[in-house]
Amino acid sequence: MVSATAREYREMGNHVATDTTLDSPTVRDETTPGRFDQRPLLVFWEMTNACDLACRHCRASAQREPSLDELTLDEGRSLIDELGSLTRPRPILILTGGDCLKRRDLFVLLDHARSQRVPVALAPSVTPRFNVEMMHALREHGVHSISLSLDGALAATHDGVRGVANHFAATLDALTALKRLGFRVQVNTTVMRHNVDELAAIAALLLQMGVDVWEVFFVVTTGRASNALALMAPEIRDVCELLVDAARYGMIVRTVEAPYFRRTVRDAAERGDEPWWSVRYDQWRSDLRARVGAPTHGVRAPSVATRDGKGVIFVSSRGEVYASGFLPLSLGNVRASGLMTIYRDHPLLRQIRAGAFRGGCESCASVDVCGGSRARAYATFGDPLGVDPSCPYQADASRMLSAGVAR
Ligand code: SF4
Repeated sequence: MVSATAREYREMGNHVATDTTLDSPTVRDETTPGRFDQRPLLVFWEMTNACDLACRHCRASAQREPSLDELTLDEGRSLIDELGSLTRPRPILILTGGDCLKRRDLFVLLDHARSQRVPVALAPSVTPRFNVEMMHALREHGVHSISLSLDGALAATHDGVRGVANHFAATLDALTALKRLGFRVQVNTTVMRHNVDELAAIAALLLQMGVDVWEVFFVVTTGRASNALALMAPEIRDVCELLVDAARYGMIVRTVEAPYFRRTVRDAAERGDEPWWSVRYDQWRSDLRARVGAPTHGVRAPSVATRDGKGVIFVSSRGEVYASGFLPLSLGNVRASGLMTIYRDHPLLRQIRAGAFRGGCESCASVDVCGGSRARAYATFGDPLGVDPSCPYQADASRMLSAGVAR
């Protein structure tokens, strides 16, 4: 039986989603020019847009039945073959959706990925389909790392977002089972107005459950996500500071569509024992400490400066290629040309990797470590190279976001 190397699996566990990186206890200078010019670190494949859930913030606007034109088994194999043809370490293939478990040929594709030595991680939906038998089967087909979504510390919050009664309890049961079966477990939380005051409680819950990685998504107003869900810049800064605190207990904490979190981590390290202060942050920090006590570890947070289109690429269920799943600007289709050709040569991706931005991101001294959310710049201003209007380090960020919303 062919399997990925221990190093690949370790990397796989550390790279289940976007602003992701090495399992580093501290921030390092990982901004080497050209590092991601030739190949991505992570390839997200939305295997299907079929899903039985209808979450409020869903990027994919998923539907119950699969589209007739989603990539076929042979086309999926070809995508995997292309990744397998690269030298090691190969990109991590993250199988997502919709619900990837609704893909009938999932196990065939998992076996093919294993035969091609392409490391795989899975992001399924918690539905009755995702039961213990399924977990065992996934394990037998080479899956070691799984991410699930949890959007509240309270059942009412999470179930309200997911639109399914008792989904909170089912998610906690699934997380417990995954840990018991030895999976490396990541939890994805979309931070939004409905749950921002529960973040400390969510962090405590995940720590108690032994979750390995917490990935916090910041809303981009695409798909079903509306502007009413998004936070404004001052509270985003408070959230980033709280996430730094949550990363001091041994669990890796990362963000998606909030690359300025790397700047927050760096700045916190430079500040040393002098904490950030705001009334709201102070309440959250006290809440976290009351639940889990004083920090036990150094900060475990991202270090590699990936962003949409730089180290990260997304393939839709129809084969369209995007810089990320939150940036609906098609760059080509894997049915017409190779994924790596699009990744390496598309002018927009080259500009993104070169940091050729406009507005505040252009002149920012932290552009290498951050670079802003290209998806949010596009969603707000229609310019994927524009400033990220949610940036908590821009003095007029809230005004920009409001202007973009009113656009
Ligand atoms: S201005 Fe842009 S590059 Fe600088 S910290 Fe803000 S989002 Fe990041």
